[in-house]
Amino acid sequence: MQPFVRRVRRVPRLFSTNAPVNGFNGAVGNTPLIFLEALSKRIGAEIYGKAEFQNPGGSVKDRAALGIIMDAEEKGSLKPGGTVVEGTAGNTGIGLAHVCRARGYSCVIFMPDTQSEEKIQLLRMLGAEVHPVPAVPYENPKNYNHLARAYAEAHSNSVWTDQFDNTANALAHYRTTGPEIWKQMRGDVNGFICATGTGGTLAGVGKYLKEASHGSTHVWLADPPGSVLTSYVNSGGNLFERTGSSITEGIGQGRITQNLGEIVKDLSGAFTVSDTKSVAMVYELLHSEGLYLGASSALNVAAAVELASKLGKGSRVVTILCDGAYRYQSRLFSLSWLKSKGLEHAIPEDLQKYIVL
Ligand code: PMP
Repeated sequence: MQPFVRRVRRVPRLFSTNAPVNGFNGAVGNTPLIFLEALSKRIGAEIYGKAEFQNPGGSVKDRAALGIIMDAEEKGSLKPGGTVVEGTAGNTGIGLAHVCRARGYSCVIFMPDTQSEEKIQLLRMLGAEVHPVPAVPYENPKNYNHLARAYAEAHSNSVWTDQFDNTANALAHYRTTGPEIWKQMRGDVNGFICATGTGGTLAGVGKYLKEASHGSTHVWLADPPGSVLTSYVNSGGNLFERTGSSITEGIGQGRITQNLGEIVKDLSGAFTVSDTKSVAMVYELLHSEGLYLGASSALNVAAAVELASKLGKGSRVVTILCDGAYRYQSRLFSLSWLKSKGLEHAIPEDLQKYIVL
């Protein structure tokens, strides 16, 4: 007789043991925190990136989009079959368009016509009605935010979600991104830094980490050129005129939004990262870490490196990897586009092989 052999079925290591989640909404958040190995080794500190590009809509803004829509549903301002209207550089719109499809709403987006073609196409593929409009400052009544608000006011059963000044945005990060980072870092974070558009991510995560660490985590703001926030923070609260511009998309600001207002007094400092440094970091992250990320993620990582050098050897600094490079590849990996911005020399010679368009 054959001896009885007990066969143990092993669960393959790649098989996730997480329970299924409900639809798009359930898949938002709980992103990995990536230790950037090569970079950390090079600089003698620990740099961690929150992999927000892994959200189901592809960016950090999925969390804000979901938080804002659920808040509007709870308050009763958004009713079944209603229309969500927003002014956005793209990623909030993409997040909103996904959530709207999943929850049965229509979606209307106003965005500056300076944004990448990839984002506009994606929004349209997700069923959103897109209005690209001239990029004019916030003070101008034709600014994309004011146009979104006016559209919602003129159409019944429509809600302007107001991502810049609606603090349901920062709250989504305070409730999810912040606690996730704290847990993933086992309560040991020396610094947190990221650039801001609405300020929701910086405010929500920064506030949570400040509270959880009893004030010991340093929270810093990183800025692209052409934004007024660095000078605002470092001058103790003066708002200067906007000068200059940046190739980064979705970040930089000309005013203190309600969301940013939630953290601004608790910031340890702020500094600007040049486009040259951000673009070089896009290529370094690809080459050394295998991560294909957009320019705001790269700016954040470059800023995290600078913050780690301020905080000292071995410090543990966390930042946000906002979205993938897929949304910008016709720009960031095109020689003619890089040349048009005077950035072709930003990329070190040994990494120029990645410029394939
Ligand atoms: N990176 C990208 C690519 C974005 O689209 C945005 C949002 N516009 C941000 C960063 C900044 O996020 P927040 O609005 O939370 O400040």
